[in-house]
Amino acid sequence: MRLEFFGCGTSQGVPEILCDCKVCTSIDENDKRLRSSIYVKHNDFNIVVDITPDFREQCLRSKIPMVDAIFLTHLHADHFMGMDDIRKFNKIKDADIPLYLPHLMEDDFRAVFHYTLKEQIPGLFRPRLSLNLIDEDPIMFGEMKVTPLKVLHGDSGEIRSYLFESDGKRIAYLTDCKVIPDKAMSLIKDCDIAILGALWDKDWDHSGHWNLQQAIEVAKEINAKQSYFTHITHLMGLHKEVNNKLPKHTQLAHDGLVINL
Ligand SMILES: [Zn+2]
Ligand SMILES: [Zn+2]
Ligand SMILES: [Zn+2]
Repeated sequence: MRLEFFGCGTSQGVPEILCDCKVCTSIDENDKRLRSSIYVKHNDFNIVVDITPDFREQCLRSKIPMVDAIFLTHLHADHFMGMDDIRKFNKIKDADIPLYLPHLMEDDFRAVFHYTLKEQIPGLFRPRLSLNLIDEDPIMFGEMKVTPLKVLHGDSGEIRSYLFESDGKRIAYLTDCKVIPDKAMSLIKDCDIAILGALWDKDWDHSGHWNLQQAIEVAKEINAKQSYFTHITHLMGLHKEVNNKLPKHTQLAHDGLVINL
């Protein structure tokens, strides 16, 4: 498996509009964070988790050759509002692209992107998705298994995280998560890579997300070989400074980071 961080910023991205703090004005490329998403490639099969408002820019930067399947964690704007830009991949593929959507989100998805699920009308250039409603059952793509994990996004309720497994390696992606129920925890325990949301290096609590200290505690409990933090705000501090003080086997992710497993 090849994992790439498409983006590791929070809903507003970093830099934030009109902010002149030291993080938003940093010249370090690692302090620039597009909205959170990952791209997982297994053999020639390309999966994207969440289609952010920055999806177009992420595709251009990463030169992604195709999108063969899309998984969504939940329907906050920062996780699915780039959906219109999958059109180009429909055109190249000349086929619908499978969307794996937690079943409890179907009505809300249809309310926003109804036109992506309608029958193709010749002459219209619009995104085309084939809808696959999921709950917790794993989905196989050749040798790779993707397991949806039921987790809680605080006040925003139940969402999905995802576990990717192939060749005995496991990658767990948990963004916008506040509580990991026992069932999900048992599936991701001791995995190779855990990707966890962490908003800021402050002791403020947020109803739907972990702060850095909370994410470090969760990383300890999961006990992955390596944990990366994502969904980061400018209040995290400078990438380099924070990374230097993090415990062993934990790091901030940065946009474009690639890991081969
Ligand atoms: Zn989010
Ligand atoms: Zn700022
Ligand atoms: Zn969210």
